[in-house]
Amino acid sequence: MRIVFFGTSHGVPEPNRRCSSTLIEIGERRYFVDMGTQSIEQLISRRIPVESVKGVFITHMHGDHANGLVSFLDLCSWYFRTADPVVCLPEPVEMARDTIAAWIKCNHAEMRPFRFLPVKEGVVYEDEAIRVTAYPTRHLEGSHAFLIEAEGKRVLFTGDLGGPSIDFPVQVLDQPLELAVCECAHFQGMTYVPVLEGKTTLKQMCFNHYTTNATLVPPTEEISKALGDIPVFCATDGMEIVL
Ligand SMILES: [Zn+2]
Ligand SMILES: [Zn+2]
Repeated sequence: MRIVFFGTSHGVPEPNRRCSSTLIEIGERRYFVDMGTQSIEQLISRRIPVESVKGVFITHMHGDHANGLVSFLDLCSWYFRTADPVVCLPEPVEMARDTIAAWIKCNHAEMRPFRFLPVKEGVVYEDEAIRVTAYPTRHLEGSHAFLIEAEGKRVLFTGDLGGPSIDFPVQVLDQPLELAVCECAHFQGMTYVPVLEGKTTLKQMCFNHYTTNATLVPPTEEISKALGDIPVFCATDGMEIVL
């Protein structure tokens, strides 16, 4: 499994950081957790076939996680016509689906009938390569964290949280978790420590969705020490992790 961070910024882009979007590659199959930036342009600049995108999973409908979906579905509608991604959206799915369709209509095009699936607690999507399980969070109505399981490995994307002590889905730590991708835009990084310390199933932790304001960058060394010296790092745009 290869994880490529297309965007690691918080709610607002920074000079070298785009809003939230992460590509997951399982062999030749690709998936996205969030599409808050022009992810389709990044696919094309990397010469990745748009048709290889099999699923897009949106943690919640804030623009910094979802706005790139519009251009993605627009181009899949009239140009990349053999692309057939499943699009998993928070409920009510119809609101986003119909809004995107209306915008594409404004562009004098027609949205193709993509497969839209609702994100609700439990398994939201499964194919021969990947299983995606959603855990409700308290950031926003309909917001969820996603557990991605593929190639025998498990990775958590927290999405945006109410706070680690409030809604981090600790139950995912009942089994080994290769990586926790944790947002850090809404609280200090150290607030994860009381929730995660002593959880030996966690193998490594990375932060995305953090601000580079000096007082708010997660203190990764301190957090690593508190969590038993596991690797802890801040993701940057373009960073790739192979698990
Ligand atoms: Zn956000
Ligand atoms: Zn948000």
